[in-house]
Amino acid sequence: MVSRVGIDLVPVTESFTPARLRVAPSPTGDPHVGTAYMSLFNLAYARKTGGQFVLRIEDTDQARYVEGSQAQIYELLSWLGLNWDEGPDISGPYAPYRQSERLDTYRPFVDQLIESGHAYYCWCSAERLTEMRDAQAKAKMSTTGYDRLCYGKTRDERAALPGFSETPVVRMLIPDDVDLGFTDVIRGEISAPHPDDQVILKADGFPTYHMAVVVDDHLMGITHVVRGEEWISSTPKHILLYKWLGWDEPTWCHMPLLRNTDKSKISKRKNPAARLVWFKEEGYLPEALRNFLQLMGYPPEDDQEVCSFEDFIADFDWAKVNTVGPVFDVKKLDWLNGHYIRSLTVDELAARIIAYIEAYQINDLPATSRNWRATVTAAVPLIAPRLVTLKEALDKVRFLLLDEVILDEAAVAKVAADVPTVIPVALEVLEGLEDFTASAIQEGLVARLVDECGFSKKIVFGPIRVAISGALVSPPLFESMEILGREASIARLKSFL
Ligand code: GLU
Repeated sequence: MVSRVGIDLVPVTESFTPARLRVAPSPTGDPHVGTAYMSLFNLAYARKTGGQFVLRIEDTDQARYVEGSQAQIYELLSWLGLNWDEGPDISGPYAPYRQSERLDTYRPFVDQLIESGHAYYCWCSAERLTEMRDAQAKAKMSTTGYDRLCYGKTRDERAALPGFSETPVVRMLIPDDVDLGFTDVIRGEISAPHPDDQVILKADGFPTYHMAVVVDDHLMGITHVVRGEEWISSTPKHILLYKWLGWDEPTWCHMPLLRNTDKSKISKRKNPAARLVWFKEEGYLPEALRNFLQLMGYPPEDDQEVCSFEDFIADFDWAKVNTVGPVFDVKKLDWLNGHYIRSLTVDELAARIIAYIEAYQINDLPATSRNWRATVTAAVPLIAPRLVTLKEALDKVRFLLLDEVILDEAAVAKVAADVPTVIPVALEVLEGLEDFTASAIQEGLVARLVDECGFSKKIVFGPIRVAISGALVSPPLFESMEILGREASIARLKSFL
């Protein structure tokens, strides 16, 4: 006999059945940040359970297909380190992973649904459907949607009526008593509105999203469908297809949509940050964006906002996901980006800044800055403490790359009165220095101008800073002078004088 105590003492170890998850973007433009957000959660659970994460390209809507969009999906998810185990570019046991290459796969299932009476041909022309919808709207009908004019008719019977189109579509015959409720892993029991007789095969022979997604998720062994909450209304249709085809449903999980600070849904039209590539263009680090998206799923325990992907996976739990749309606050991302920037070694940060300039700012470099990479690398320790994005780096070091400094007039006006007293003495000091290092420059200038001549530091270093950097606020002055070198520093002071 096992005592109660004995049972309680058995250690509880979490064990998971390896799950298969997927992200299924449609290549209809440059990728939405939501694609990365969904990928992150799908991948986290796949890794947590020791399963697989699949990338599938859903390109059945030929009218919305955008050239180059797929390449961007691969590039940006890879940039974020959200790597897939199977996908169109790397293949896998369920290839092909691009729906346009799987058209032959869908057709037999459509035929099966027609034969079993769950689907029917519809020959209504686009004009007739528009007229039907307008009439429904005008009559303020409570149930709208397809009126089933074609249902139960042969082609010839239907051809005798108006609004006939030679190439039919196939529609689902949605039963009146369709079950609209289902269990969602983060929302519990939910229900969706009654669907229309959904088209599953289009006139061009392509399946619609609804047909293709169900067939592919089933054939690819997907165990958890994790997607945005905008798909909740589609789920009863998908559940019907699973039932009619005799397949087990996956586990459903509808993630909350990301929201703008005014709580509206984040869209590419209104918010540049809805475009995934925007973060790369703006100089955010992929690790910062990934961490930021993690925080969008659920607030951290113990306020520990900085969290590696490994730690996120280790503690991952659907139950923690907030169903209220998380607010996309770029200020938080700025803070995280600064944190990750300062976690890099000087060499790593320099390499990232250089790669960023090469990709996005090469034409903004001063024309004469031949050795710009070395100068940027030398300046990294100076600018790192206040750097928020990689994009800002070039402007912060620009004064070191220019042949002649660009003077800020307001700054010049502020220091002008002290120039004749300070600069000639400073020049003497600099010309006489043995080593032109930051510490020697600082010691020399302080000893002579502050200690000997009795000027205040503000009076001394204002004019020198403006002469060297062009502005009253700049990266550390003596280090900047060391990077510029003796000749260039002296030249700047002379021309300023
Ligand atoms: N192709 C759909 C999209 O673009 C996928 C939706 C789903 O995950 O089922 O978001």
